[in-house]
Amino acid sequence: MATVRKVKDIIEPIYVTEGAGVLLRRSLGTQRLNYLDPFLLFDHFGSRNPQDYLAGFPMHPHRGIETVTYVLDGLVDHKDSMGNAGTIGGGDVQWMTSGSGIIHEEMPKESDQGIMQGFQLWVNLPAKLKMTQPRYQEINSFEIPEVKNDDGVLVRVIAGEFEGVNGAINEIYADPEYLDVYLPAGTSFEQTITRGHTVFAYLFEGEGIFGGYETDSLEKVSTIQATQLIVLGGGDVVKVHTNQEPARFLLMSGKPLDEPIVRYGPFVMNTNEEIQHALEDIQNNTFVK
Ligand code: MN
Repeated sequence: MATVRKVKDIIEPIYVTEGAGVLLRRSLGTQRLNYLDPFLLFDHFGSRNPQDYLAGFPMHPHRGIETVTYVLDGLVDHKDSMGNAGTIGGGDVQWMTSGSGIIHEEMPKESDQGIMQGFQLWVNLPAKLKMTQPRYQEINSFEIPEVKNDDGVLVRVIAGEFEGVNGAINEIYADPEYLDVYLPAGTSFEQTITRGHTVFAYLFEGEGIFGGYETDSLEKVSTIQATQLIVLGGGDVVKVHTNQEPARFLLMSGKPLDEPIVRYGPFVMNTNEEIQHALEDIQNNTFVK
């Protein structure tokens, strides 16, 4: 019998300043929740004040991870040590596999829509792929498949699969799922996720009821209001529904690595020696392989 994944933890994002002075809301990769294997970090940047984001993220390195940037509103210029350069804008996704090492820059531009908003997720790489060749995938908004139902439910399939529709991004080790889900008031959403995979939702607009009903008592679980990161527990099916208000959330899942991690800023490896090696590579100018 399919088991509904219930709410295990609710995390209120905290404000942090990153890069050269970008104000953002972090809900994963903090003291409260350091690691949700295989997810290392989750940031939400969003502001109507350019002073909160214009300083951006000038040239910085990464090793041992993948970073996934999803821009909702506004534009972000980027360039990297592999020779990629461009601008990602509303609805676009950049999936960057740092592997052995990449140095890049991510610079939000002043938005003429009045708002800059997006998300960055860090996905860990297993030991055997930490030093893999860097890879970069840029997906334009129009390339992201959308599932629209008659009741107004809209799901953008960034990675993984929803109702038989495959996402735009594939061949990622953690076998991740990344959905952007909009539920109008009075609708519901169901998604089966491989048992044993880690699942979380990031509710950034409206309110919703996560985890369905208690199987035995049919007791209703409480409504969660934006903005919160919701960790879902073990089981098979994710169930979300709305009552009077609509909801918009990201749903992420991935295969846990179950390996030791050592974090040092933008480097995430398995041992202290590997971190030391990354720092030496930076010093010796041998970081980019
Ligand atoms: Mn970066």
